[in-house]
Amino acid sequence: MDKFGFSISKVRYIDWEANDRSLADYIREKEPSFKLCIACGGCTATCTAGNYTQFSLREINILIHRGENEKPWNELKKCMLCGKCSLVCPRGVNTRNVVFLAKQMFQKMNGYAI
Ligand code: SF4
Ligand code: SF4
Repeated sequence: MDKFGFSISKVRYIDWEANDRSLADYIREKEPSFKLCIACGGCTATCTAGNYTQFSLREINILIHRGENEKPWNELKKCMLCGKCSLVCPRGVNTRNVVFLAKQMFQKMNGYAI
């Protein structure tokens, strides 16, 4: 493609093989409903933390699936585990548990405060 002057913009490039998807695997094993997310954004629209910050659970879900865990690591500190997002998900994803499991994994890895 390069010879025609086209290439994938670096900021849009997802290195699926190089990314660490162990967090996504861990969540999918413990909370299989995580697989059902269609990134509709319903959780983000109702999120308590999202009312006061730029926090987006939709974005976090996508990044975790891809194995891009750095932003979720920082952003998930904003979630207070209120569970509102779980009530509106059209796919029945137990989003509260997804967030809890992610925080739990981060805690195991680096002493992250839940
Ligand atoms: S509401 Fe459910 S399906 Fe929609 S983005 Fe959130 S977790 Fe995914
Ligand atoms: S549990 Fe977290 S992600 Fe879900 S609505 Fe509450 S603050 Fe937002």
